[in-house]
Amino acid sequence: MKTLRNFICILAMSVTGVSTAIEHGEQDKTSKQPNFIIILTDDQGYADVGFNGSNDIRTPNIDRIANEGTKFTNGYVSYAVCGPSRAGLLTGRYQGRFGFGRNPVIDPTDTKAGMPLEEQMISEVLKPVGYTSSIIGKWHMGLHPKFHPNKRGFDHFYGFLNGGHDYLPELLIHKDIYSLPKGGRHYATKLNHNSEIVEIDEYLTDELSHEAVKFIEREQDNPFFLYLAYNAPHGPMQATQNYLDRNKHIKNKKRQTYAAMITAVDDGVGQVLAKLKALGLDENTMVFFLSDNGGSRKHPSSNAPLRGHKSDYFEGGIHVPFAVRWPGKIPAGQIYENSVSSLDILGTFAALTNAPIAKKRPLDGVNLMPYITGKDKGLPHDVLFWRNFDQGTLATRRGDSKVIHSKKDGDHLYNLATDLSETRNLIEKSNAQFEQQKAEVKAWEQELIDPVFRGLRQFKKKAKKNK
Ligand code: CA
Repeated sequence: MKTLRNFICILAMSVTGVSTAIEHGEQDKTSKQPNFIIILTDDQGYADVGFNGSNDIRTPNIDRIANEGTKFTNGYVSYAVCGPSRAGLLTGRYQGRFGFGRNPVIDPTDTKAGMPLEEQMISEVLKPVGYTSSIIGKWHMGLHPKFHPNKRGFDHFYGFLNGGHDYLPELLIHKDIYSLPKGGRHYATKLNHNSEIVEIDEYLTDELSHEAVKFIEREQDNPFFLYLAYNAPHGPMQATQNYLDRNKHIKNKKRQTYAAMITAVDDGVGQVLAKLKALGLDENTMVFFLSDNGGSRKHPSSNAPLRGHKSDYFEGGIHVPFAVRWPGKIPAGQIYENSVSSLDILGTFAALTNAPIAKKRPLDGVNLMPYITGKDKGLPHDVLFWRNFDQGTLATRRGDSKVIHSKKDGDHLYNLATDLSETRNLIEKSNAQFEQQKAEVKAWEQELIDPVFRGLRQFKKKAKKNK
């Protein structure tokens, strides 16, 4: 199997042109196809990383990704809550194109509530060009067995299928999501290693970090894609004493716990980077770091100076901490200010590997490499769009001009160059600009379809009704 995989890998390399030094042999790890790592955090506020100026939460390891690579000051995700944002990230496409327009209902018998099988995720795009893929952490792309990560191009899965989880091993008392007792909390299920149920004895974030390091060690000789999808610092707010102790300087207890959860992630990022260095993979591995949406108003997160929170289409919901590191390939300590999107990650990976993209499902994301390396001085995106179907919200950014057209929040026009905090609604002064951008986002909306499955909110409402 390994021989076959190496053969495919060499074949792929010879056609991609990514590497021209095959003759240097197996030992020259930098001559191989690049490895890809996405480190995704969950509900981490824009300002809750050192590289965006946090003065109480310390993230020296996460900061290395930005400081030794490129920090994006205008990095966006394609939705303001977990599920749809991840669906966009993993397909490189606006998830409204295929109806992943809300967080899926928690029902493992629902055959619609997940990533449509016709779509191609990063793992599926990279497989034909010789990559081994792993998802470690939160899946959230469907609970029904047909949506299982092992059926979606991920060779390795270690984590949980649902959208959130308890962190303390003693709380994980239920076998799995398919056999939850009545009233059983889905956050309290045991972890999965592929289809097996596993017992853990560590704090969940540590467990995920250790598994990531093991995966890198195991796959060091093959091109790999690691999707390290931490659920931290998403609720429930649970941290162990050692991480709390390292945040004693934070007096607000809730903020201290939230910070402790991020400290655990930061330690994990440190372990991943140390492993890459130790194995000589540093210069052949591209590492993205970002959060799946903004900090939640339920928790003591900070999106400063951005307005709003998770689930909003003000900047605080969709404008996230975002950085990429690739020593020797990307300038160190660079700040990139043009708007980029989580949708661009697959565009970048596909371009670097010449992985084919189906014509029927064109990417909305672009290859970021020419922009990061300065070869292309233009904009990766003239315009970005967002839609929340259930809220009746459309939003768009063209240049520095941001428009929100929302049943929930009303109509807004901001100039983000002069008013990043969205405090001065310019709509009275500039209705023409608003109308033009509204027409543009409405035209884009015509390309989308309605959500194809029931959502978490509908599920909750129904549950409440039945009580
Ligand atoms: Ca989230």
